[in-house]
Amino acid sequence: MVGPAYAKRLTKLGILTVTDLLTHFPTRYEDFSLISVIDKLQAGETVTVCATVNSIKNIYTKNHKKIQQAIVSDETGSMEIIWFNQMFLTRTILKGEKYNFSGKIEESNGKIILISPQYEKIRILNQVEDDESFAPTIHTGKLIPVYPETYGVSSKWLRSRIAPLLKECKSELFEYLPDSILTKNELMSYKNAIEQIHYPTNKKDSEKARERLAFDELLLIQLASLKRKEQWNKEKVGHRFDVENCPPTGGLKIENFIASLPFQLTSAQNHALNEILHDLESDKPMNRLLEGDVGSGKTVVAAISMYVSYLNGYQSVLMAPTEILAQQHYETIKKLLNNFGVSVGLVTGNNVTKQPACRQAGQCNNVLVGTHALLSDKNKDLFQNVGLVVIDEQHRFGVEQRAKLKSRGVNPHLLTMTATPIPRTVALTLYAELDLSVLNEMPLGRQKIKTWVVPNKKREAAYQWIKKQIKENQTQAFIICPLIEESENLKTVKAATQEYDFLQKKVFPNLRLGLLHGRLKPKEKDQVLQDFRNQKLNILVTTPVVEVGIDIPNATIMMIEAADRFGLASLHQLRGRIGRNNQQAYCLLFSESKNISRLKALETIHVGSELAQLDLKNRGAGEIYGTAQHGSLNLKVADFSNLTLINKTHQIAQELIEKLDQFPLLKEKLERYTIKNVGNN
Ligand code: ADP
Ligand code: MG
Repeated sequence: MVGPAYAKRLTKLGILTVTDLLTHFPTRYEDFSLISVIDKLQAGETVTVCATVNSIKNIYTKNHKKIQQAIVSDETGSMEIIWFNQMFLTRTILKGEKYNFSGKIEESNGKIILISPQYEKIRILNQVEDDESFAPTIHTGKLIPVYPETYGVSSKWLRSRIAPLLKECKSELFEYLPDSILTKNELMSYKNAIEQIHYPTNKKDSEKARERLAFDELLLIQLASLKRKEQWNKEKVGHRFDVENCPPTGGLKIENFIASLPFQLTSAQNHALNEILHDLESDKPMNRLLEGDVGSGKTVVAAISMYVSYLNGYQSVLMAPTEILAQQHYETIKKLLNNFGVSVGLVTGNNVTKQPACRQAGQCNNVLVGTHALLSDKNKDLFQNVGLVVIDEQHRFGVEQRAKLKSRGVNPHLLTMTATPIPRTVALTLYAELDLSVLNEMPLGRQKIKTWVVPNKKREAAYQWIKKQIKENQTQAFIICPLIEESENLKTVKAATQEYDFLQKKVFPNLRLGLLHGRLKPKEKDQVLQDFRNQKLNILVTTPVVEVGIDIPNATIMMIEAADRFGLASLHQLRGRIGRNNQQAYCLLFSESKNISRLKALETIHVGSELAQLDLKNRGAGEIYGTAQHGSLNLKVADFSNLTLINKTHQIAQELIEKLDQFPLLKEKLERYTIKNVGNN
């Protein structure tokens, strides 16, 4: 249906099938429903004018601007419309034809004018003598959906594909919820909801549609998780761990190990650890989510758990979402566990600089740390007797990937870790199969990161200040380049490279700068990061989406460009990369946008979950929120702050799961939902 170029772009939006397109929901609507004749138009109104094109031509202004000017008229009068730099319009908009033009009426030299309106040709469906009927419009004349976009896929293009689908696929939009539930909860039918969320008759119906679809989303998430719980409860571990007396004198060994750490565990870490150890002693495999703000110290909790697994004679596996994170975990875990006789191997797609993990039967590493490469069948022989699987930043991995990793052992224990601040009640309601431990406390002595939103006129002063800090305190700085698109593409890389050149040549000629982005070869990435860690570099210029998990204890300054393009929780995660050494750290936020009040929250709030809550309130403000990278659970329509709906659907899910067989359509929907959400749950 679409060519390969578009297919690739659509993949970025998570759109692979027709159903995906139909469930690609608009984030807002453009209200073009007011239709007016020309002599009634008033400046300031957003309207749709239906008019015939008298003329259209390109005009070149003195300062080399290219303007497209059209004169259009209806039975009440005529008016001027202009566009900028859209040379093709003189070919696509045809003289003598009738169009809808939708946009905001402006006034220029005492005359009304439309600037860059949406336009849409009026198509006659059939004509019986004088009676014409027109094809329904999709870009003008009503509430028009505005979709999440990506490079090369505009809302206009999406409308042109989705609108016809809504007609063609009507029969597939069957109702799958039982009647009783629809009635009791006053829900719109599924077909209606899908139609109305794209092209609502009015604002109220668009909200009703959203309500219905949010209901479905939360219900399906919970049904799926209850199913997983059912499954999980049937499982037994291959072999029970003995924590108290793991051979020989295990309890003592664990204590010794903890005593050997260069710091004292926080009481939150101790508490989480106890919960984990308790799980590990059970014959039911652990399925625990360890949630903790950036810097709260999740890694060491995982390391201790892996040590326990080792003491019981089992292998542990730790999977991280990126190569750099995997490398970093590898270094950390090796440092912690090597002295205790644990051999650690690294498994990535590009193990260039490190020793390969051991493949010899009977001599496999006690701990494997790696990326997705762990899942590859090529690496099957690295595994032996897996007793514990740890997954870092779990939201980035799909259910199936987790299952695959799990299958390398005989029902091993599973510990997932996330910095995504999901409120406890929400997590427990939505993810019934998980137990939850929360690190709600920062290591002792950790200072709040001093954060300022810096006005652009102070940019030069900020650069000087950074220079001084680096000289006087031997500290290091991150400079995060603008997020241009949600995923890191060539444009972002190019912008970062330019910024790096500029900073090195013009701003910090006497300092050593490094550049890190996703297009570097693994070997180059590794080198840059190593140089930064070894303080051979003073400043690391990086793209925003790259490797936010890196831990450079000596870096205390972070400067973030175009901060307005991120959500607050994402910014909080980014800044969590600095100030890990109990030194005062500083985060400078720059923004081109005038509306900085949202960002100001970061100056005073230092708790991830509170910032995430604010993000929910601000949602729909039109910024790019870099969600995929920085971890929010991808909800399409529903909202984590809607506790009422979460609780309501929770109860219904629990009732339904017992009698799913009575509702084959719902059962089928759930099966398809589960398959579809493998990969992004
Ligand atoms: P995250 O929870 O974000 O994954 P890390 O595990 O990377 O955090 O830990 C952040 C830093 O804090 C690391 O340098 C780690 O050594 C240190 N750390 C962890 N626990 C403590 C503690 N109890 N006291 C002091 N420092 C700690
Ligand atoms: Mg971490």
